Amino acid sequence: DPVDWPTRDLVTHRADTTPDRTAMVAAESGAAVTYRELDAAVDAVAAEFDQRIDGTDPTVATLLPTRPAVGTLLFAAMRLGATLAPLNVELDAATLRAQCATVGADLLVCAPSTHDLATETATCPVVPVDDLPVTPDGTGADRETDVPPATLSRTDTQLVIFTSGTTSEPKGVRLTVGNLVASAVASSYRLGVLPTDRWLVCLPTYHMGGLAPFVRSALYGTAVVVQQSFDAAATQRVVAEHEVTGVSLVPTMLSRLLDAGWEPPSSLRFVLLGGGPASESLIERCRERGVPVCPTYGMTETASQIATARPETAFEHAGTVGQPLVFTDATVVADGEPCDPGERGEIAVDGPTVTPGYLGGDGAAFGEFGFRTGDLGYRDADGRLWVEGRVDDQIVTGGENVDASTVAAVVRDHPGVEDAAVVGLSDEEWGQRVAALVVGDVSPEIVRDHCAERLAPYEVPKTVRVTDVLPRTASGTVDRSAVRSRFAAADEASESTQ
Ligand code: ATP
Ligand code: MG
Repeated sequence: DPVDWPTRDLVTHRADTTPDRTAMVAAESGAAVTYRELDAAVDAVAAEFDQRIDGTDPTVATLLPTRPAVGTLLFAAMRLGATLAPLNVELDAATLRAQCATVGADLLVCAPSTHDLATETATCPVVPVDDLPVTPDGTGADRETDVPPATLSRTDTQLVIFTSGTTSEPKGVRLTVGNLVASAVASSYRLGVLPTDRWLVCLPTYHMGGLAPFVRSALYGTAVVVQQSFDAAATQRVVAEHEVTGVSLVPTMLSRLLDAGWEPPSSLRFVLLGGGPASESLIERCRERGVPVCPTYGMTETASQIATARPETAFEHAGTVGQPLVFTDATVVADGEPCDPGERGEIAVDGPTVTPGYLGGDGAAFGEFGFRTGDLGYRDADGRLWVEGRVDDQIVTGGENVDASTVAAVVRDHPGVEDAAVVGLSDEEWGQRVAALVVGDVSPEIVRDHCAERLAPYEVPKTVRVTDVLPRTASGTVDRSAVRSRFAAADEASESTQ
């Protein structure tokens, strides 16, 4: 690769340039560390990693809930030239064991709450995070160490993050130093940066949405506020008390904040809303409440954001995710050709944020126009991107094509429906039949009548089931295979009682 950007880790630069600025704040205790203090902690943890791991190209896996310490571990890995692989604490031991082996972990860092799972899972030594010179608030013991900061190359793998596993088993995505830096730079072009910025992280830090703010803030010299878990009342307080200027949320979290009466303070500059589609009614509620919502389309394979709409765009064109970020190409492709404006196809993404590929056996789908996302959408005449669901969501019923997300949007439009997921179930007569799993105060008949007024007959769900809560992945997307098994389980149950 003729073009490289050899660099030191981001916190080394920060400690040189803005040592007294706040780096991280623990929302619950209010404990804060400056970049100088973070630098000392990073140094101490890097030395500890170095001592515990033999060999070159080390990989440190983590099994940690959302904590400021996650940031310290990321930058310590960066300082040592190691890869960090944050694993999802919600997964079962067998899946985690396989992931631990796939990433080739040399060390697994756990929390008190994940200690048992970690020992069951690890294919390498386990170390409790409290045994590392990282306090729960993210500060480090004041140790003299002598780990020289590694020189990083743009193409070094810095992170391995597993996808949410919505469509199949989670895939281990390699993200390079260059991917992360390019993403942080592109994000700042769309959202802007103020020296007073404080980015609230209350999403899981084993997904990109929760981890990216640490990288961005270190690059910008601004602060992250870390809340251990989202809670509508507590998150409102944290935003106000810590003068949060930006927050990353998934749609269900934002809905709950609005349900709880949230009217954000004027210091809040943006709500980066991603992970799944935001309904038009959610965007409309944001407009009414003065929530500066920035609907975003992103994925693990692109180190987070691909396209993001600023609030003025979101309010004028509800449903769009806006223009692709700077340096990012998003091409809508159908039959191997780029589509015209308004024409629907699969979204392909090219640019410096795109992963070089997956770990393990999964081949990433790269085509002429870059990484094939598996998502459907179109660009409008002004270049704004509209995401319309996943290629896999296409249901073929009696020879007709039905888009599950279109049907789900219509179902969700009923005032009695809080949430809905639509899937195709295999069916002897129809090949597949459209089925809806619905949360709300409605009956299956009401849902079907509502759909029959708005959709073609073949699009109307043949099976409707009302439930308490939709199965979701940790990042908030509907877990479609779990939805399908709910129907299968219900079928078995009804057969056994007949
Ligand atoms: P897997 O790849 O394992 O099936 P996943 O795709 O859900 O899981 P993530 O990388 O966390 O894993 O999620 C990225 C996906 O989320 C995108 O490909 C897209 O389908 C969906 N998504 C993200 N943002 C939006 C959005 N604004 N509108 C619609 N879909 C979105
Ligand atoms: Mg995916």
